[in-house]
Amino acid sequence: MPHRAESESRKLLGRLRDALAEDNAGQARLDHVVQLIASSMRTEVCSIYLFRDAETLELCATEGLHQDAVHKTRLRLGEGLVGRTADRGVVINAANAPARAGFRYMPETGEDRFISFCGIPIQRLGQPMGVLVVQSRQERRYTTDEVYALEIVAMVLAEMTELGAFVDDGAALSALHSRPVMFRGLIGQEGAAAGIVYRHEPRVVITNPFSDDPDLELTRLREAVDALQTGIDTMIADNDGDGDQSDVLEAYRMFAHSRSWLRRMEADVGNGLSAEAAVEKEQSLARTRLSRSKDAYMRERLSDLDDLSNRLLRILTGQGSDTGAEMPADAVLVARNIGPGELLEYGKELRGIVLEEGSVGSHAAIVARAWAIPLVLRAKGITTEALNGDTILVDGEQGIAHLRPEEQVQTAFADKIAMQARAQERYASIRDEPATDKSGQTVSLQMNAGLMADLPSLANSGAEGVGLFRTELQFLIRNKMPQRSELSSLYARVMDSAGDRQVTFRTLDIGSDKVLSYMKHTDEPNPAMGWRAIRVGLDKPGVLRMQLQALIRAAAGRPLAVMFPFIADHREFRAARAEFDKAVARETKLGHPLPTEVKIGAMLEMPSLAFAPDAFFEEVDFLSVGGNDLKQFFFAADRENEQVRRRYDTLDLSFLDFLAHILRRCAAFGTPISFCGEDAGRPIEALVFAALGFRTLSMRPASIGPVKHLIRRINLDDVRDVIEQARREGAASVRQSVTDWLVFQQD
Ligand code: PEP
Ligand code: MG
Repeated sequence: MPHRAESESRKLLGRLRDALAEDNAGQARLDHVVQLIASSMRTEVCSIYLFRDAETLELCATEGLHQDAVHKTRLRLGEGLVGRTADRGVVINAANAPARAGFRYMPETGEDRFISFCGIPIQRLGQPMGVLVVQSRQERRYTTDEVYALEIVAMVLAEMTELGAFVDDGAALSALHSRPVMFRGLIGQEGAAAGIVYRHEPRVVITNPFSDDPDLELTRLREAVDALQTGIDTMIADNDGDGDQSDVLEAYRMFAHSRSWLRRMEADVGNGLSAEAAVEKEQSLARTRLSRSKDAYMRERLSDLDDLSNRLLRILTGQGSDTGAEMPADAVLVARNIGPGELLEYGKELRGIVLEEGSVGSHAAIVARAWAIPLVLRAKGITTEALNGDTILVDGEQGIAHLRPEEQVQTAFADKIAMQARAQERYASIRDEPATDKSGQTVSLQMNAGLMADLPSLANSGAEGVGLFRTELQFLIRNKMPQRSELSSLYARVMDSAGDRQVTFRTLDIGSDKVLSYMKHTDEPNPAMGWRAIRVGLDKPGVLRMQLQALIRAAAGRPLAVMFPFIADHREFRAARAEFDKAVARETKLGHPLPTEVKIGAMLEMPSLAFAPDAFFEEVDFLSVGGNDLKQFFFAADRENEQVRRRYDTLDLSFLDFLAHILRRCAAFGTPISFCGEDAGRPIEALVFAALGFRTLSMRPASIGPVKHLIRRINLDDVRDVIEQARREGAASVRQSVTDWLVFQQD
């Protein structure tokens, strides 16, 4: 960066600091800020757009556009170049804005006179707060130096917004951390909870983003980086040989010693930011860049860099990681992520947990599930928004958290909690009863599991067995390949805790979205249809063989049920079964005791298997419909893609007729069949599947009560009539008919 630009930027920040120090109301400050930027940058227009709600940006101050448009011009996130800048979190620098894709002309602003446009996201820690825009009549691209200077200004604006410098009348200028915000994440553990936010780690507060004395700030920055490096070196020296931890620490060391990271922060300080603001600017840019990355490795690095930046900020500000806040009685823990040990320390009293990151297979999820604490994962932005003491509602059923909810939401939520409590009582009273309908037809309800911690739910939920044990979760939560002995003792413990109830183990289903960090991974154009599950198992049989051996050893002296995932045809099933037979032969040769009885089944997850030759149905001991995959391939609608995921109804007659075809083929050969996709746990779907003829359904434990309660209330023959009536009436889906009919059934 040339010296001139450097000092220009510093001068601009100096003026900004003086302007912000004046005792003005928020609006007057903003007006002053846009004037200053426009004159310093010698550009005709400078405007600031801030969010008035999570989706809408509002023009809050402008120099150069019509003043009448202030607080009137609004854009949705992603709309126009301003909305796009905020949505993507990247600079849009357009010499000829109207020619740019996405351009949207706002006539009330009078912007038609200005042809060039540069939008800079105002964001803090990757969280969008608004957009800073400069425009001019002349067709030109803003230079790299100008853009850099604007980024520095945007960083200061973000910090000042956070500190409340622009608070004034109206939604867009209301104080931050006071509005209701809804976070949509993933379901970690079902259940509803209302409580008070308790932060696992407090947010670092930066009180001064300006560098009053650049030399002093540079020294502070370098000393802090030194302290960071020494701290990590000491941690490495003290690490008692734990391999996984060493890898993480080595990655930390690499970043902590990164010259380019330090150089960028030094340049920011040189341009007028305080050491803390410089750290945060780089942290924010890295977060935006890397959070858009599809590469799992890069995302992990983001997490490392983020952690280091936080450490650096704590060193600089002296703010420790202890919140100092008393934990409220009804605490809902909010954290970016949390380890199981830390969660165990908080204890079972937590009402709920909301994590910014985390995954269903994470350790935190295991502990939360074992304690049945409602958990929402991947609530993006929660750690930037939530403050200790905020009211929060956790809706684990839907994977939603309502922060600082409005009164109506609180009331509706209280009703929901009360209803759930009543329903739970009802379900508990029928826990040991069978799922028998009024005509005497019984459906076996089983549960899906994947971790040791899921097993207590077997007794609590009243499940008759584990219809699907997803073995890959054990692999996903580890940093290295588990050993055979570990697996066999784990599988034995699972069988021990299940007692007389059968556990159906599914062999490893990796690939697609389930990537093991320690196994070589190749990017595939369409991983859901790629090299996954049994395809990997048969092509590289080492892990499959190890797993089968572990299962056989664990089941010594008792029955064993194993099924293979993602079987497309008879040939694949035969090959997989042959692997099992070979494993048995090896164990026999070694003189090891064998399972007393073995059942080998397959998941039916691809339409092709429904048309396999008769011999397949004769050979396979049982089948389980993996509805999640089967539906995505039947309708060609990616189960992970929110845009198409719910586009087609499971209860569409085309899909139901396909299921009926599968049931007929199984019935012809007496092949036992169950349904274990997520849909089996949705009461209306479960009812329809049972009416079609499924006699075993496997679902998440929390669904067993509601499904059983419903089946016991009705006559499955009536459901069949309703389905046939809907067909005669030409309905596409039977959902409406079944739902309407249910409303009139006696409780
Ligand atoms: C399914 O596809 O329905 C299934 C149970 O397997 P998974 O969800 O693990 O792919
Ligand atoms: Mg599947």
